[in-house]
Amino acid sequence: MVQQFLRPTTPAEAVQMRTDTGGVYIAGGTDVNWQGPPDVAALVSTADLPLAFVRTDSSVVEIGANVTLQELVDHDELAPAGLAALGHAVARIGNRSIRCLATVGGTIGANKPYSDLIPVLMALDATVSLVTAAGEEAMTVEDYLAAPPVGALIVALRVPRPDSATAVSVQRLARSVNDWSVVNLALAVRVVAGALVEPRLAVAGVAPAVTRLPKAEAVLAGAEVGKDWPGLVERFAAAVTAGVEPAGDGRGSASFRAEVAATLARRALQACVEEKGG
Ligand SMILES: Cc1cc2nc3c(=O)[nH]c(=O)nc-3n(C[C@H](O)[C@H](O)[C@H](O)COP(=O)(O)OP(=O)(O)OC[C@H]3O[C@@H](n4cnc5c(N)ncnc54)[C@H](O)[C@@H]3O)c2cc1C
Repeated sequence: MVQQFLRPTTPAEAVQMRTDTGGVYIAGGTDVNWQGPPDVAALVSTADLPLAFVRTDSSVVEIGANVTLQELVDHDELAPAGLAALGHAVARIGNRSIRCLATVGGTIGANKPYSDLIPVLMALDATVSLVTAAGEEAMTVEDYLAAPPVGALIVALRVPRPDSATAVSVQRLARSVNDWSVVNLALAVRVVAGALVEPRLAVAGVAPAVTRLPKAEAVLAGAEVGKDWPGLVERFAAAVTAGVEPAGDGRGSASFRAEVAATLARRALQACVEEKGG
């Protein structure tokens, strides 16, 4: 039973309180409270931490952990920085009430296998800035999710600004407009002189965790879009199907999810190439 609700005002204090109490961080609380109050001695709230910022410089956009998903949708600095895809990815999460509570930090912390935000962060090669008992550190989102350091507080995301050759497409299929997706994915790729460069594809809903698909990326790397385009699209889709290991559930069988992943991957590739006129 929760006995303490703590409101630290600095990240270091938050980490110390979590260590001292063995509690858990709570941000928007939409996951922590999903099935009623959690069975922990203390909740360490992030609400009073100064982490609700968005800072843009010429190479990176830094997004504080307390920025809400709705703020990603509405923020007027993200699209000019080439990061409209962040807002597009989360615009269908839950409903506006959920998006106004759920935070970027809590969404990474929740690490859902069908997350709508994590694939686009992986595709954009984002990093998380952390505060731990040992100090500050940074890790890629992928590395953090694979092995989150115990007790680490996420303070911000750092998302590299895509250059003008980079296209980013997010794709999603859900049973209804605000249901969890059956599958969603994000593809980022540079289109340079008609060739595909540095493709990054991340898919949710097809494995126990959001996953990159390196073999599907390899199909695209260096491919010329003006050469056997239908064949390229089909080889890419086939590599996606071969690379996923979905489990079936009430939202879709394993084979349906694999089929959806391939279809969304085709759409994403088409959208990226159309956007950059490759
Ligand atoms: C009805 C409903 C529908 C939803 N639909 C979708 C959907 O379709 N797609 C989707 O992607 N998401 C969806 N979500 C949102 C998602 O499941 C999470 O609830 C949400 O992203 C968590 O954000 P939060 O700020 O509320 O986190 P919290 O619930 O506060 O925390 C979540 C986890 O992160 C940890 N945490 C929080 N802040 C930090 C921090 N700064 N550093 C380290 N750890 C931290 C907590 O300890 C906890 O383990 C839905 C949620 C609801 C309730």
